[in-house]
Amino acid sequence: MDEINSNIENIKNTFTKSINDAKSTYELENLYLDFFSKKSGKITLLIKKLADLNIEEKKKLGPVINQLQNEFKLKIDQRKKEIKDLDLKNQSLDFTYPLKAKSCGYLHPLTQTVREIDSFFRYYGYSVVEGPEIETEEYNFRKLNLPKGHPATDLQDSLYIKGDILLRPHTSSVEARILTDYKPPIKVVIPGKCFRNETPNSTNASFFHQYQGVAVDKDINLQHLKGILQEFHKFLFGEDIKLRFRYKYYPEVSPGMGVDMKCKFCNGKGCPVCKYRGWIEVLGSGMIHYNTLKMCGIDPEKYTGFAFGMGLDRLVMQKFGIDDIRKLYGGIIYK
Ligand SMILES: [Zn+2]
Repeated sequence: MDEINSNIENIKNTFTKSINDAKSTYELENLYLDFFSKKSGKITLLIKKLADLNIEEKKKLGPVINQLQNEFKLKIDQRKKEIKDLDLKNQSLDFTYPLKAKSCGYLHPLTQTVREIDSFFRYYGYSVVEGPEIETEEYNFRKLNLPKGHPATDLQDSLYIKGDILLRPHTSSVEARILTDYKPPIKVVIPGKCFRNETPNSTNASFFHQYQGVAVDKDINLQHLKGILQEFHKFLFGEDIKLRFRYKYYPEVSPGMGVDMKCKFCNGKGCPVCKYRGWIEVLGSGMIHYNTLKMCGIDPEKYTGFAFGMGLDRLVMQKFGIDDIRKLYGGIIYK
């Protein structure tokens, strides 16, 4: 009996010390096992010892041990809660802090490509500009050396809105605006949407995207144009590209220059991609026509300039492996 009593005192002291020292839930779990495990728990062993006592002693000590059990279990639970609260406090968690919006999706392939090309031209000192998509004939044709009745204005197959107002058929209209509104030196690139009167199919839409470049300054010549175009195509398609420059007529430039790139798929031998020509036409360009400069208010005796323009849609389709232009601009997401 005395032995058990002193045992109880020891257990109480051990428990009080252990519970105060416990710093984690893990330690408390171990503490629980230390006292209540079925085989060697201190309280379990104490209960087993009760069996050796006489009935009077059992009546006396039974309730004491019971109370001890309940008290210990309660204290362990309380301590667990305290530790949990303390952990939360130390982590300085702010549950009201707004979460960052989850990003999903990507930029449109066309936007990605335009940004990539913009970065190239910005590096060479060009500014990126935009202009109105609804334009007058004045900026669409007249200032670009296309007088009224010029066959090229018919070729554009334009979408007229009212009178001489139409949806621009090319980004050259912005070139005319820039040349009219600014004084040389001018170095700009113009990405933009253009429109034409066409029934959409797999390769043509009623709108398309052009990328135009214009530079005007003293002593600008064809070599400057060829130089920037070479560098640009290397940037876009790799160092080993080969360009071919040939004469081509465009009314707003003189001389006009068509630019072909040696087909990368067949290395000039001919394949379905280049339609067995070995070369792919990539853009139109030339020295800005004397009349264009003059009509835009720039002295053609003093300044010269070049312009180039390319279609972006086919470029984007090639780059991203998109085989139908309707997929490029449709609302349906294809896998
Ligand atoms: Zn080819």
